[in-house]
Amino acid sequence: MGIVKTKNTIVPVLNTRHLTNSTYVIRIERDGMEFEAGQYIALGLPGNAEKREYSIYSGDQEDYIEVLVKEIDEGIVSKQLKQLQAGSHAEMDGPFGFFTLDEMSRSGKELVFIASGTGIAPFHSYIRSYQALNYKLIHGVKYGDEAYEQDAYDADRHILCTSQDNRGDYLGRVTDYLRTHPVSSDADYYLCGNSNMIHEVYDILKEQEVDAERIHAEVYF
Ligand SMILES: Cc1cc2nc3c(=O)[nH]c(=O)nc-3n(C[C@H](O)[C@H](O)[C@H](O)COP(=O)(O)OP(=O)(O)OC[C@H]3O[C@@H](n4cnc5c(N)ncnc54)[C@H](O)[C@@H]3O)c2cc1C
Repeated sequence: MGIVKTKNTIVPVLNTRHLTNSTYVIRIERDGMEFEAGQYIALGLPGNAEKREYSIYSGDQEDYIEVLVKEIDEGIVSKQLKQLQAGSHAEMDGPFGFFTLDEMSRSGKELVFIASGTGIAPFHSYIRSYQALNYKLIHGVKYGDEAYEQDAYDADRHILCTSQDNRGDYLGRVTDYLRTHPVSSDADYYLCGNSNMIHEVYDILKEQEVDAERIHAEVYF
């Protein structure tokens, strides 16, 4: 792999969309940054040393960059970013990371995406970037209103698991879903979100005879 050129730049905020009381999408100027779907940027307020990593939510052909952020009650940066509006500025660095799809995965290989919460962001970017994806997306949230722009996904390929209300396709966690719906050992698995979910899903997939090399993960916290 060649040298990865990253940019640390101050960019205008184009707009924000508030999807729930705590979760929002920030759209910023792309400023010519090249990235592959699945990578992340570091984002913060201009001149502020505190930055956090956010998976790129938008597609690789779009002329802006979006991230999907959940405000954390005791958090710092997720609260600061929530105050940004069109016309204000953010500081970004990146892109970083290797949670990307190879050529075969982009063109028809069977893929299963498993996300908790805002861990759906890189999968949204894959789906916006690659037209021929053969995917199934299993998204775990507490409540149905955390489905986050589910119209972006093919309804036949998207399973919303809700653990605290019955407004999803399945009542329970993604781990409950996987235990009751055994998986294919031929697919490749992409896991993104909190580490507890990722560890538990990894063990379930191993029990269901999926090779470790078919399991890819991006841990948020
Ligand atoms: C590679 C990578 C990509 C990421 N992509 C995203 C993304 O697309 N969207 C997104 O919202 N976050 C993402 N995160 C998490 C993000 O970087 C921050 O950790 C998060 O926004 C909290 O930052 P903060 O400054 O508000 O809180 P901090 O002050 O840094 O942390 C407060 C506490 O909150 C915990 N925490 C972090 N995230 C969550 C969460 N979602 N739910 C509950 N507790 C949490 C931390 O572990 C910490 O204990 C990503 C993290 C990594 C490593």
